[in-house]
Amino acid sequence: MIYMDNAATTPMSETAKRVFLDTADRFWGNPSSLHTSGQVAAEQLFAARQRIAARINADPREITFTSGGSEADNQALLTGATLGSRKGKKHIVSTKFEHHAILHALKRLEKQGYEVTLVDVNADGVVRPEDVAAAIREDTALVSVMFANNEVGTVQPIAEIGAICREKGVLFHTDAVQAAGHLPIDVKAMNIDMLSLSAHKFHGPKGVGVLYARRGVFLTNLIEGGAQERGKRAGTENLPGIASMAAALDEACEHMQRDGAYMTALRDRLIEGLRQIPHSKLNGDPVKRLPGNVNFCFEGIEGESLLLLLDDRGIAASSGSACTSGSLDPSHVLLAMGIPHEVAHGSLRLTLSPEITEADIDKTVRDVTEVVAYLRDISPVWEELEKGVRQHVIQ
Ligand SMILES: *Cc1c(COP(=O)(O)O)cnc(C)c1O
Repeated sequence: MIYMDNAATTPMSETAKRVFLDTADRFWGNPSSLHTSGQVAAEQLFAARQRIAARINADPREITFTSGGSEADNQALLTGATLGSRKGKKHIVSTKFEHHAILHALKRLEKQGYEVTLVDVNADGVVRPEDVAAAIREDTALVSVMFANNEVGTVQPIAEIGAICREKGVLFHTDAVQAAGHLPIDVKAMNIDMLSLSAHKFHGPKGVGVLYARRGVFLTNLIEGGAQERGKRAGTENLPGIASMAAALDEACEHMQRDGAYMTALRDRLIEGLRQIPHSKLNGDPVKRLPGNVNFCFEGIEGESLLLLLDDRGIAASSGSACTSGSLDPSHVLLAMGIPHEVAHGSLRLTLSPEITEADIDKTVRDVTEVVAYLRDISPVWEELEKGVRQHVIQ
């Protein structure tokens, strides 16, 4: 199988698996226990916290472990909302193309009386810092803009947005789940107050993530209970997952330059190949994008059919976000970028890993080209386009 769905999840690296098992084997004690078995576990927990903090230029005390990216996103928004409302600020700024962990959590806050402004993204899938600045009001409690988009892979001007928020005295959160391990992150230089990441997107285990919160930003609990995580997140820590996440992040960051350069070259080869398909379009900025992300629209076809036929040929791809497949609605990300409904339906996301080879890329280009041609052959919409009954949207 050629696995090209690394934005949905990644397999655990050999190191991550080894550390997971080793930790489960040797450090199964409860880090809150006072006896030796608990204390050796607590030492491992602190070591993981230190290593993860160092990778984003944070202090270990600023790291809270969560069950993943979704929980971290929810807690960050709840925290921003709670801190704001204490000062009478009940307005939140975010963007139209965030992950559903942000958008759906914002919907809940709206029901609780908060006002939300979702800033537009441009046709290339990039947020304009000036639009964020313009959306900030006197009563804005929080700005949340993702670091890199999970569907089209576009990288956002996070440092610029961070500088604007700091200047205006507004808290700034970024969902960095797609960026961690792939792009350099420096929470201090980028003026980030809160940041989410998730281990399973950088070859770590599923069900574990991090919420970074700058010193002085007091997290609001999502889960009540014991005093774990300095009282900010109850529940006995998932130490095998946490230690394995720290190892996976170290590994990804150590190889970031090498793997990034390798995947960028493959990505551009794939883009060049798919561009040859008539009436196709690359979604998202060609340069300001994650090293491993390719996202295309093909006019006149259904993304779902394309996926199933590629799966038959041993290629695992996605039509956008794993979380929305299964629904027939076109991607909210592509719609936010101004791509028409009928075209947004025919989208394909291929996300690479360092395991992918040039031969895999060339096979993928051949297979996608053949499958798109086949689907167009049997498509009534395509027939209308060819006969000129309907106008092509993509030239
Ligand atoms: C995967 C993902 C999430 C959710 O992370 P989980 O650990 O699966 O809960 C949130 N935001 C983005 C951008 C993602 O890609």
